[in-house]
Amino acid sequence: MVGVLALQGNYQMHANMLAKLNVETVFVKKTSDLLKCSSLIIPGGESTVISKLMVKYNLFDSVKDFSINHGIFGTCAGLIMMAKNTLKEVRTLNVIDAEVLRNAWGRQIDSFTANIEVDFDEVYDFKATFIRAPKIMNISKTVKLLGSINSEPVIIQEGKHLATTFHPEMHGDTLIHKYFLKMVGEID
Ligand code: GLN
Repeated sequence: MVGVLALQGNYQMHANMLAKLNVETVFVKKTSDLLKCSSLIIPGGESTVISKLMVKYNLFDSVKDFSINHGIFGTCAGLIMMAKNTLKEVRTLNVIDAEVLRNAWGRQIDSFTANIEVDFDEVYDFKATFIRAPKIMNISKTVKLLGSINSEPVIIQEGKHLATTFHPEMHGDTLIHKYFLKMVGEID
């Protein structure tokens, strides 16, 4: 079963995407929920809040342990949580070898939707919504770049982990969720 971290943020829409793909969701609010899962989605929302709640509900260390053997898909604030940054306002998990800059496209009012090209062996168009999105600043050679906008990386993969700076759950297109689920062997 696929877990969706459900402490704060847009977790319900990720569950809707999984339902569209006939995949069962577990809303993860505590470690016992996580232990039922074979992979995890960390939604967008507010990383400062997600990080604090993960510590408060003892999920920080369990998600970190989980990441060793299971794939994690982080979107927007979820990507920030996965990054290796040292930030004073967000304690990050350091599961993907990339650094991020929070709120790097501007304020809430500067949020935007754009068509991007995503390179999953074949190239696909995808309608991506960026909501007070981070930018990916430094990526190591072990990180695969799967798409960018204006030369800014917006979707990256490292091993079994996937991360986007945008929200992929907003417009009903399951392309990116499907890629992640295939990548981690949840679907064929
Ligand atoms: N700006 C938010 C943060 O820094 C991320 C926004 C989002 O997830 N849409 O956590």
